[in-house]
Amino acid sequence: MVTGAKTAVSKAAVPICRGFATIDGMETAWDGVVVGGGAAGLSAALVLGRARQRTLVIDAGAQSNLAAEGIGGLLGQDGRSPAGFYAAGREELARYPSVQLLDGDVLRGERGGDGFVLELADGGRATARRVVLATGMEYRYPALPGIAERWGRSVFHCPFCHGWEVRGKRLAVLDRGATGVHRALLLRTWSESVTLLTDGPSELDSAEAQRLHAAGIPIDERPVVGLRGSDGTIEAVGFDDGTERPLTGMLVPVTLHQRSDLPWQLGAVAKDTGPLAADAIEVDAMFQTSVPGLYAAGDAVVQQAPSVTTAIAAGSTAAATLVQSLAAEGRSQPAPTSSSERDDA
Ligand SMILES: Cc1cc2nc3c(=O)[nH]c(=O)nc-3n(C[C@H](O)[C@H](O)[C@H](O)COP(=O)(O)OP(=O)(O)OC[C@H]3O[C@@H](n4cnc5c(N)ncnc54)[C@H](O)[C@@H]3O)c2cc1C
Repeated sequence: MVTGAKTAVSKAAVPICRGFATIDGMETAWDGVVVGGGAAGLSAALVLGRARQRTLVIDAGAQSNLAAEGIGGLLGQDGRSPAGFYAAGREELARYPSVQLLDGDVLRGERGGDGFVLELADGGRATARRVVLATGMEYRYPALPGIAERWGRSVFHCPFCHGWEVRGKRLAVLDRGATGVHRALLLRTWSESVTLLTDGPSELDSAEAQRLHAAGIPIDERPVVGLRGSDGTIEAVGFDDGTERPLTGMLVPVTLHQRSDLPWQLGAVAKDTGPLAADAIEVDAMFQTSVPGLYAAGDAVVQQAPSVTTAIAAGSTAAATLVQSLAAEGRSQPAPTSSSERDDA
């Protein structure tokens, strides 16, 4: 298995600040530090900013869907480029004076005092009363030559995200086991031409083979050696006997893995492995981990069907829960206000 390509996100016109929150010139802990500035993290920060929480977002800028041309199925933003979407999210956050964005990589974290201490790769530190882990996941796909340069485009893992763009075309599912049957039958929703590529002898029983046959899905057992096509497209899949099958799109299986051991350093625990995610963080319905004050949202907690929509919802819920937990404690520090709010007062 190999991992998805990474592209830089534009951070134009967004102020970047560093260090601790200060109140009357004194350094103090942030109310919330959000680690990760993808859909989950930016959504959490928006809720925190609107609740006047002193919030730091630290983001390494490697959102998992940056390889894709557009975001499929996100209401109000359908088809928008991921980079444009994240830039717009950052611009929205810039309206909130209590939110700071920092480009950086959190390497280490520990519980300390009343909250958490995070160490950045560049040696910086941030202390926080609460932390939201919105660190996403590493998507690992089969190590087949030709996938990496087509990942998120003609090679994809989610038919709901990319199926529309290849509707009615010649499609294939690369998968040897029973999940391949399920995925091939699902992909028929988007095209009448679907082939199951088992890349070697099929492990299907006769009932599974019969279901595919009834749906008009051929099984091709020839070992796959690569893909042909230019500029992120597929024209054909190649087999080890030198032959090819014409193709436009290919659905591949993925497994999701944490990008670092930061969640475990902070004391979070992993859920039992699911069919998709190897080590999702265990959270309750409000996205609180087993560690008081530590929340997690987005792909980092997901076991099935990750999407931008569910990441936004999870980040928002985690942040609202965080705000309520601080409110329940009683505030000892004043919330920051913009100069216009101070003038109005
Ligand atoms: C190729 C591809 C295409 C997809 N297409 C679609 C689609 O069309 N529609 C759809 O709904 N879903 C799609 N998805 C799924 C969707 O993109 C994800 O479910 C969603 O974006 C996850 O958001 P997130 O905020 O949890 O994680 P991410 O978007 O991955 O963001 C996590 C951020 O945290 C940062 N980070 C991680 N660790 C640290 C650290 N230690 N310190 C600082 N920063 C850190 C990362 O660099 C990254 O910027 C796609 C996924 C992939 C891989």
